[in-house]
Amino acid sequence: MAPTGYVHLWMPGHVLALPNGYVPEHRLVAYEAGLLVDLSDDVHHKNGTKDDNRLENLEVRTHGDHTREHDLVGGANRRKTHCPAGHPYDEANTKRVPSRPNSRYCRACHREETRRRRLRARLAATTSKRPGA
Ligand SMILES: [Zn+2]
Ligand SMILES: [Zn+2]
Repeated sequence: MAPTGYVHLWMPGHVLALPNGYVPEHRLVAYEAGLLVDLSDDVHHKNGTKDDNRLENLEVRTHGDHTREHDLVGGANRRKTHCPAGHPYDEANTKRVPSRPNSRYCRACHREETRRRRLRARLAATTSKRPGA
């Protein structure tokens, strides 16, 4: 039922209910135990198993902390040392965009991509200049 892996309970009208009437069980457990007081906080599964809703597996985090933590844990890509084409993600070869602080780009691949695009554009231009060919 829950593609996210979380357990949901049908409890429309509950203070923790989502707009669809379901309450995430982990939030309910934390709430009833008095851990979850500020409802804007998130409830985190310490062992990473989203349907393991035993109280000792739950921990209340602020939404910001929680999101950051999952970025670090789940973002295996960010810890890779090489791009998919095998170029090193070192200081000189890594491009970052301020608007997307969690992403990084391989300069070598970017250069290669730009070169190919120019080549394609040139080929296309050449072909169109010879309509009779
Ligand atoms: Zn979590
Ligand atoms: Zn690369």
